[in-house]
Amino acid sequence: MLAIHGGEPVRGAAAWPRWPQYDERTEAELLAALRSSRWSVSWYAPEGGKSRERLFGEAFARYNGAAYGVSVDHGSSALVIALEALGVGPGDEVIVPALTWVAPATAVLRVGALPVLVDVDPDTGCVTADQVRAALSGRTRAVIAVHLACTVARVDELVAVTSAAGIALIEDCSQSHGARWSGRAVGTFGDIGVFSLGAAKSLAAGEAGAAITDSLELYRRMLMLRADSRGYSEGPPGAGEYELVELGEIMGGNYCMSELTAGILLDQLPRLNDQHARRAVRATELEDGLARIPGLSSIPVPAQVDRRAVYEYGIRFEPGTFGTAPVEHVAAALTAELGTKVYPPRAPLPRSNLLRPQSKPRFARFWDDDRAFGRTFPGAEHYREHTLLLHHSVLLGERADIDDILTALAKVHALSDAFDGADSAVRKGISA
Ligand SMILES: *Cc1c(COP(=O)(O)O)cnc(C)c1O
Repeated sequence: MLAIHGGEPVRGAAAWPRWPQYDERTEAELLAALRSSRWSVSWYAPEGGKSRERLFGEAFARYNGAAYGVSVDHGSSALVIALEALGVGPGDEVIVPALTWVAPATAVLRVGALPVLVDVDPDTGCVTADQVRAALSGRTRAVIAVHLACTVARVDELVAVTSAAGIALIEDCSQSHGARWSGRAVGTFGDIGVFSLGAAKSLAAGEAGAAITDSLELYRRMLMLRADSRGYSEGPPGAGEYELVELGEIMGGNYCMSELTAGILLDQLPRLNDQHARRAVRATELEDGLARIPGLSSIPVPAQVDRRAVYEYGIRFEPGTFGTAPVEHVAAALTAELGTKVYPPRAPLPRSNLLRPQSKPRFARFWDDDRAFGRTFPGAEHYREHTLLLHHSVLLGERADIDDILTALAKVHALSDAFDGADSAVRKGISA
């Protein structure tokens, strides 16, 4: 019997890996930032030297093979300063995939431009060059491409479209830190790469973000945009001096990353490659097992991807694999078997509760439903209804964890007849 109907769950009390991961080295970094009394890049440097937020920007750029990196308080802020640095504003349109976290769309609204939503590849959930081409208008100024969940958008084809159209490409790598396409890190193909470093992400610091670029001009603009029109002093500040100097070439806001947060990130970044490697081993085991359960497979990853990043591991199922049960019911049944959350992707943005521009006067003024939502989104809907997601931390453990996941999938698949007629019990499971 399925655990959701009162049967014995596949997994007993064994704990799943916790996330985020930290140890006494993280504690020492955090304590050092605390004791420095600096706390903010805007505050003076009692002992002198570069701020931790500057050091992290530099280290993160180096990690990705980019020339410049800017630390910010959120991935959403990185999107806003990227758009502003590129000169996107009122009257402009920015192409955004229909299937993603809401921030790429809201960031476009925040700079006064209109997000134009486009459909995605039903297999990967990523935006495609064809969809971008079909949505171009005389007002299109930029494309935000999202490398979704555990795969990478076909970034070479996207670069070809945006450069032919003379518009900017922003890569949102919030779900793909450190992924590589033909030996080069994602985020370095477009004009600017942006990253969320929120608590759930595979490089995490609670609330944080970053932007990378190879353009000195865009870097300087992003520095000012994130620190009330200030950039860095030429050399590191001396003891008792300030590191930020007024440049005033473009007016900014305050999206600065705290020194305490930067301390955590300086500890976390050197761990990322080991975590990638560990997840890759578990992902391969999972893929091998999925091939033996009819109707199941992993989200495809293009052959050009030579280092994979996983934010959410996606399992696809063919229609009918779990009888007539909707994805929410399958996910709830698996969650009950495993004791870790299995969940469907979020609703595509055109029907998301989180994208409500009419609810804010400054967005309602220029919102245009027909321009923003005037396409169909069968690819996004298919992906949403036929994908099961697991958080990346589930892949940071042992082989036995993967066996449990495969056993649960096989069990729920074998007993999927039990869903028909047992919907009320399943619903009870969802609300529990
Ligand atoms: C998480 C996420 C963001 C938002 O980042 P915050 O740090 O929460 O502001 C933006 N884009 C994508 C694709 C994300 O997954």
